[in-house]
Amino acid sequence: MRDSEARLHLPVVDPAAESVAPPRRRHPEWIRATLPSKPAYFELRAMVKELQLHTVCESASCPNIGECWTRRALTIMILGDICTRSCRFCDVTTGRPLPPDPDEPRRVAEMLGRLSLEHTVITCVDRDDLADFGAAHWAQTIQEVKAACPTMTLEVLAGDFKGNTELVDIVLDADPDVFAHNLETVPRLSRAVRVQASYPRSYKILEHARKRDAVTKTGLMLGLGETRDEVEEVLRDVARLGVDIVTLGQYLAPSKRHLAIERYVPPAEFAELEQYARDQGITHVVAGPLVRSSYHADGQAQLVRDLRAAKHVVR
Ligand code: SF4
Repeated sequence: MRDSEARLHLPVVDPAAESVAPPRRRHPEWIRATLPSKPAYFELRAMVKELQLHTVCESASCPNIGECWTRRALTIMILGDICTRSCRFCDVTTGRPLPPDPDEPRRVAEMLGRLSLEHTVITCVDRDDLADFGAAHWAQTIQEVKAACPTMTLEVLAGDFKGNTELVDIVLDADPDVFAHNLETVPRLSRAVRVQASYPRSYKILEHARKRDAVTKTGLMLGLGETRDEVEEVLRDVARLGVDIVTLGQYLAPSKRHLAIERYVPPAEFAELEQYARDQGITHVVAGPLVRSSYHADGQAQLVRDLRAAKHVVR
């Protein structure tokens, strides 16, 4: 999976009934999810089902789904819902996927056209079984979405294409407004957290996208055992690269089979790291316990337009 979302066994707060489901695991009081109960959530869910699409919001049981989907903010996941990788933080099913559905890009475009969004994020499962790791399918999806939604800004949260920058170019040539790729964790923990990936390879992908003048974004999960110094070192790396947008969020273990949570990072520490990142020159930082790569991205359409304009990339 390409997003640092995870199935969370959280206390769920229902604002209408003011009822709290018993937690399966005790999280600190600053980690709470809102129960998906609003009509907008059910309408969106019905549309996803009707168009036979997948979302990382559902596949990874993101804790923010009640909040995000009420605003029609969702992250569609393309190339199916079975991933060829087995990252130890992620709850998307690992296995042997079906061939890509050639009609999926059209249905993604139809869904986003119906929703009339200002900005959206699309991600994918990893497809190491395909010769191009899904690059052509990505390009077709981007092209169809842009044709159906000419005023919407589009962020793609892509995999590492095993470090093949020619394949990254296939995605970038389709001209998404934001190219996002998550470093996920600090170099020391990268292999343990993302078994088939590596920090240098992810760094290379981001570096390549920056050289192509793409608006770039990356994200980190905290609470996996990293030290403060290690996080700050990664933020200095990200600043050196010139990545435009950074997200920092708390890792929450999907199940007992996944990596354990080493530490809950308090909100005040997220605020300090956000300031540290800004001090390094990263101007757009979103940090907090429930922040995920796509969290509140729907409010960044104007930011993305401004960033593109600053790079003289105007659609
Ligand atoms: S944070 Fe991202 S993955 Fe989670 S519900 Fe919101 S849009 Fe979906």
